[in-house]
Amino acid sequence: MITTFLKKILRRPKAPAGSMQMRILQAGQHPLSPDTISRCALKVTQALQAGGFKAYIVGGAVRDLLLGRSPKDFDVATDATPEQVRRLIRRSRVIGRRFQIVHAMCQEEIVEVTTFRGSADRESESQVTDEHGRLTRDNVFGSMEEDAARRDFTVNALYYDPSRNELFDYFNGVRDIQARKLAMIGPPAVRYREDPVRMLRAVRFAAKLGFELDSEARQPIQELADLLLNVPESRLFDEMLKMLLSGHSVACLQQLRAEGLHHDLLPLLDWILDQPQGERFVTQALQNTDQRIMEDKSVSPGFLFACLLWHPVLDAWKRRQDAGEKPMPALFEAMTDVLETQRKKLAIPRRYDAIMKEIWGLQPRFVQRSGQRPYRLLEHPRFRAAYDFMFLRAQSGELDLAIGTWWTDFQTAAPEDRESMLVQDEQPKRTRRRRRR
Ligand code: ATP
Ligand code: MG
Repeated sequence: MITTFLKKILRRPKAPAGSMQMRILQAGQHPLSPDTISRCALKVTQALQAGGFKAYIVGGAVRDLLLGRSPKDFDVATDATPEQVRRLIRRSRVIGRRFQIVHAMCQEEIVEVTTFRGSADRESESQVTDEHGRLTRDNVFGSMEEDAARRDFTVNALYYDPSRNELFDYFNGVRDIQARKLAMIGPPAVRYREDPVRMLRAVRFAAKLGFELDSEARQPIQELADLLLNVPESRLFDEMLKMLLSGHSVACLQQLRAEGLHHDLLPLLDWILDQPQGERFVTQALQNTDQRIMEDKSVSPGFLFACLLWHPVLDAWKRRQDAGEKPMPALFEAMTDVLETQRKKLAIPRRYDAIMKEIWGLQPRFVQRSGQRPYRLLEHPRFRAAYDFMFLRAQSGELDLAIGTWWTDFQTAAPEDRESMLVQDEQPKRTRRRRRR
């Protein structure tokens, strides 16, 4: 049905990608309806409109609905100022420094309400760029049209008014959705310079939506990739996390690498993916993550980063042991080496260090399956994460799969059956000694 609707609309003269050609699609000309919108978002648009303001569902939600997907969340754009929004919506609060937005809350759901942003062309004291063209201040309100022009991709500049059932399409976003094309609004190089994070957003949307990044939007990326160094680390990290938690992390990392954007984010990625075992391990970990996201299960970023960096840790650990260091101190030093290398580019916030180090530090204990040691490991507060991690190692061929399945059985066995399962396995140590001789 969606395709038929879109096809009808598309039998119109073509405008170049990214140029403004506003069109209002009435009820019957598009597949949306108010009952595809969340209750909270409807309440917000109705309250704003009742207060005499414009209010539209905008961005990812409209795009996803046109694609027949259920939106992750709903964003609303309005001509009311944040203070006016706050007064009209009882459970709401103003957040943000650079550009204030309002969070409207209904039970579990939060709807983000933004005031229309001013145009990039507007002569304004409020829009300031640094020497690379990056917008360092961008906090001027504007008209709906200007707001559309400030958005990143044509498919993200669609506005839906649920009360009139009208869809506003400023840049042929509907046409691009149909063509599964990700095209930038305005000149891509300028838009990337204004905000280099748009390069990462391009990768994420292309991977997540299965769209092709339009050649004009793709072309400047390689040359401008290093502008990411100029972006505040916390924003880069948030964007990195969005990619990993997008439900399409495998595709995101592949595309990130294909566009040459990984150098400043994950400097070790080439090294990791160029080794068959490292690649298998990371791919398996990311596939599991994507699956968990699809099933609405929680995912721990610390666990994910531990996975991404495990093979560099293994490598550094081996080198230190080969140089004569004792296994456990060598492992802890290796962790520090790898985290330091990563920190030289994009620092993973220190709050994740503890979990990563615990997961890594528990790994040698999984080969010990005799005496009291396996019982103690089961009791460890991080056992579950460390076990999942160990199982991935086993699946990727780095660790004997029999050890992986032994732990699966051991933890689910009745306590009285466990003793008979213990294994006298001094094997790893002996192998190592033999090799040294
Ligand atoms: P998602 O499904 O990930 O939420 P989204 O398109 O809704 O996708 P958001 O980050 O929630 O993405 O942003 C909402 C909208 O705000 C976008 O659709 C886009 O129109 C606009 N936007 C967000 N970030 C930028 C940016 N860096 N530059 C220009 N426009 C942006
Ligand atoms: Mg969104």
